[in-house]
Amino acid sequence: METILTVNHLTKKFGLLTAVSDLSFTIEKGNVYGILGPNGSGKSTTLGIILNVVNRTSGDFSWFDGSTSTHEALKKVGAIIERPNFYPYMTAIQNLKLVCKIKEVPSAKIEEKLKLVGLWDRKDSKFKTYSLGMKQRLAIASALLNDPEILILDEPTNGLDPQGIHQIREIIKTIAGQGTTILLASHLLDEVEKVCSHVVILRKGEKLYSGPVDGMMASHGFFELRSADMEKMKELLETHASFGKINSFNGTLTAYLKEEMDAESLNKMLYDKGIILSHLVKRKESLEEQFLSLTKNN
Ligand code: ADP
Ligand code: MG
Repeated sequence: METILTVNHLTKKFGLLTAVSDLSFTIEKGNVYGILGPNGSGKSTTLGIILNVVNRTSGDFSWFDGSTSTHEALKKVGAIIERPNFYPYMTAIQNLKLVCKIKEVPSAKIEEKLKLVGLWDRKDSKFKTYSLGMKQRLAIASALLNDPEILILDEPTNGLDPQGIHQIREIIKTIAGQGTTILLASHLLDEVEKVCSHVVILRKGEKLYSGPVDGMMASHGFFELRSADMEKMKELLETHASFGKINSFNGTLTAYLKEEMDAESLNKMLYDKGIILSHLVKRKESLEEQFLSLTKNN
């Protein structure tokens, strides 16, 4: 695997506030990464640091194989971390020609990128006539002009209507499909689930989980149980290796699995120990519930 970015024990303090705390993760080529966390969890600060617009307090990061300077590396990075801003009275084409000059890339790329984001037929419209979604798509086209190794987006669908959101997500998937690595920050679980292959979950600047999105979803579920002898049942499950957390609420026991087990096996196991169940349901925690339990304050 080819590494695009390595972040090591990164910390950022704003006075007394720790915005990013001892954060480490790696980005491998070809994957789509989401930094997921509620507002204020340190997503934008993290992106700012790796893009050299925010100074870190401690820790470090390195781009690619670690031998290129950040300044050189950032020439191979496309990033949109602010609201798209172009010259309002210039057309899409005119704006992108200017970007090509600044980035020193051939303007021949413009057609391909405008087609990619679905703006080729609006290429001669002035920027000020664009909807917010179109502005965001133009920003993506602009960031892609130099065929970057990685595209970085901060909350790419914020403020867009459902159709605009859908268009942006489809474009991100298309770009990823062409082999460009993507890193996006989002506070929307659903967005990360739909678009990303990997996720780094932040809460108050601290990493709660990093790994494949599938891994985040792969919970083994839990059982809801009732029997005449709740105490004995609770004791039994607490000492059983397949179970983790066990909660008792309103006369129902909720027992979370650490490994796979079906309802039949549990029923038999409890029956053999003299416990007869009056209620047995197996459930899987939804991704949303898992995210909420990961990010709630405790
Ligand atoms: P996110 O992008 O996840 O919403 P941010 O990285 O923007 O979170 O912010 C993380 C924390 O750092 C927040 O508490 C925010 O108020 C604080 N913060 C961000 N930028 C600054 C700054 N320039 N000065 C002081 N505090 C800041
Ligand atoms: Mg932010």
